Amino acid sequence: MLVRGGTGFAATASASSLVRIIDVAGKQVGDLVLFRADDTQERFSQANTRKLENTIYLGRGNRLWSTRCAALAVIERDSVQRHDILSSACSPYDYPVRFGLRDHPSCLANLTAALEPFGIPEYLIPDPLNVFMRQELSQEGTFTVLEPLSGPGSTLELRLLVDWVVAISACPQDQNPCNGWVITDLMLELERT
Ligand SMILES: [Zn+2]
Repeated sequence: MLVRGGTGFAATASASSLVRIIDVAGKQVGDLVLFRADDTQERFSQANTRKLENTIYLGRGNRLWSTRCAALAVIERDSVQRHDILSSACSPYDYPVRFGLRDHPSCLANLTAALEPFGIPEYLIPDPLNVFMRQELSQEGTFTVLEPLSGPGSTLELRLLVDWVVAISACPQDQNPCNGWVITDLMLELERT
């Protein structure tokens, strides 16, 4: 499935399936969220993933954890080794505060629209795994958003450990270097088993 830059997509996939996220043109972030298919109140947790993996920089071999500390997926392939689990999704609420912009497209709005057919409301959408997003944390504890290290064809591959609802937004953030200043497409491939 081609996820056009600035839009969202959601699907179901069963345990042991592979989810492959490909950066088509390079430097494009995807905000990825996961929910257990049999109980969508249990969902991806940035905070539990940071705590249980003991890192803020995920890469191959790291697992993604749920709000109830279940392992949801493991990263099996990763050609970038730099993704973000510090930042919330860009949202209709933060563009006015951060940039003075109303009605700017956002990941949270994209994810909400994509998950609506699955009966998942906005308030259940967790802070995402920001695939390919590069953010540096200084010794003083400040953050800097930098351009992604991903190029054309860069890939992140996740092996699912439970049945999922998965949603992704090809981030429309064009007000900082998050997406290299140009919004482009992502490819989401599901190899169902
Ligand atoms: Zn975004």
